[in-house]
Amino acid sequence: NLVAVAVEARGGQGIPRSSGLSDDLFVHDGQITKRPVRALALSALASRPGERLWDIGAGSGSISVEWALCGGTAIAIEAREDRAANIRTNAAAFGLAHRITVVTGRAPEALAGQDPPDAVFIGGGLDPAMFDAVWSRLLPGARLVAHSVTLETEALLGELHQRHGGELMRVEIAHAAPLGRYRSWEAARAVVQWSAVR
Ligand code: SAH
Repeated sequence: NLVAVAVEARGGQGIPRSSGLSDDLFVHDGQITKRPVRALALSALASRPGERLWDIGAGSGSISVEWALCGGTAIAIEAREDRAANIRTNAAAFGLAHRITVVTGRAPEALAGQDPPDAVFIGGGLDPAMFDAVWSRLLPGARLVAHSVTLETEALLGELHQRHGGELMRVEIAHAAPLGRYRSWEAARAVVQWSAVR
C-alpha cells in the first residue's frame, strides 16, 4: 500500500488532511500537478462533501484523490491508458476506488452520459471546442477551474476570462537549488489558473 509506505517514510506521522499532499504519495510519470500548484487548484475547486468533480486530463489522478479525500466523488477522464492505470492504482492506495471513476478516453467525447458535475478541473486537453462542450453541460452554480502552461491555452484562458469573468491568476514558483558553492532560485514553468462559476 503506497500510503502505508509513504506514512512510514514520514516517520509514522500520518497523512496530512490539508490540500497539497506530497507528490511522492502518488504513482506518476512526471505529469502531475505539483504539490503547491495542486493546493491552489483544490482551493479554487472548493470541494464540499458529497459533490461530484469532473477531473479532465486527470494524469495521475492526484486532483481526484485530494477532492475525494474531502468527501466528494470524482470522474477522472484521462486519454492515456497507462496514466488511467496510475489513477486506478492511486485511488486504490488511498482507499478511494469506490469514489473515483476512471474513464479512459478523450474529453469532451468521453464525458457523454456522465451526470453533470458540481465542479470541473481542466488540467489537459483544453481547446475552444472542448471548453464549449464542457461549459454547455454545466448547471448554474457549477465551478470550473482550468490550468494552463502553454501560451496557446493561456491565450484561450485570457479570452474566457473576458467573456465569462471569474478570476485569472498567474503563479510563478521557484525552488532554491544548488549553484556551485551557492544556492539560486530555479523557476518552474508559470501556471495560469482561471476559475469561474457557470
Ligand atoms: N492534473 C494531473 C496532471 C494533468 S497532465 C495530475 O495531477 O496528475 C494533463 C493530462 O491530460 C495528460 O495526462 C494527458 O494525457 C491528458 N489529456 C490531454 N488531452 C486530453 C483530453 N482531451 N481528454 C482527456 N485527457 C487528456
